[in-house]
Amino acid sequence: MTSKKVTVASDWLAGCAGCHMSFLDIDERLVNLIQLATLTATPITDLKHPSEQGVDVGILEGAVNNSAGEAVAKRMRERSKILIALGDCAVFGGIPTMRNRGCRGDALKRAYIESESTVDGRVPDDPELAQMQEARPLDQVVAVDVYLPGCPPPADAIFHVLTSLVEGKKPQLTGKLLDWH
Ligand code: SF4
Repeated sequence: MTSKKVTVASDWLAGCAGCHMSFLDIDERLVNLIQLATLTATPITDLKHPSEQGVDVGILEGAVNNSAGEAVAKRMRERSKILIALGDCAVFGGIPTMRNRGCRGDALKRAYIESESTVDGRVPDDPELAQMQEARPLDQVVAVDVYLPGCPPPADAIFHVLTSLVEGKKPQLTGKLLDWH
């Protein structure tokens, strides 16, 4: 056990938030984890501001599919000593990459021009808005240190990876840990 608490931050990109929900399924073991680690930022609490000094462990859920997500991924990489790709969408692209097969131009036309809910009949082009990109796994944008697959990864696997890292060990993910049982 380390004397100084390990700092951990998490964020999400394109996905469904199910991986973060699985994180919460760690349940009472979160109490053990909190004794070893300090959570500095997470999208599911009010803690949304990672320290400018960076964190020991960064966790990213979801694929990168627009310019805003790309910026989040790069910032988390810059600020994290160890970066975890959490869940299938982050590990290999998962469900968000299904849209890569279609034509984004057609999808935007259907959503903004042909849809009955259209406000002004044009595709928004405000440069402040995130620009759509082909959906990509995290490691096509930044270097990843630990892959935690699953849709979502089981809580036991998430707990194993996090406790290993906060104790300074290399996670050893087994098929049993990645199985839902
Ligand atoms: S891996 Fe599954 S649970 Fe996690 S964000 Fe993607 S679709 Fe959701």
